[in-house]
Amino acid sequence: MLVNAAELHSIHRFCSGHRELLQRSSHAGCVSCGETFSPSEIREWIVEGDGSPGGSRGETAKCPKCGTAAVLPSAAPIALSPAMLDTLQRYWFGGKR
Ligand SMILES: [Zn+2]
Repeated sequence: MLVNAAELHSIHRFCSGHRELLQRSSHAGCVSCGETFSPSEIREWIVEGDGSPGGSRGETAKCPKCGTAAVLPSAAPIALSPAMLDTLQRYWFGGKR
């Protein structure tokens, strides 16, 4: 599967500040370890931003399997599949697991 730079960029947005999106997702996938799991399994969140108006803020999930903040929600407008996670993993982490 080929993913171009623009697509990678747009997908990367869904890896952070996505708590709301995850709550609407039936499942989530981790780009780092390739596991898929239920969003209810997520126990750790990274709180970002300083809360100032206009500042970026949000909560980012940490993978319940490997602890990496590389979780994609299924509610994001992307084709979340093991093949997609595999492709992204190669782009973002250089293929090492
Ligand atoms: Zn993981």
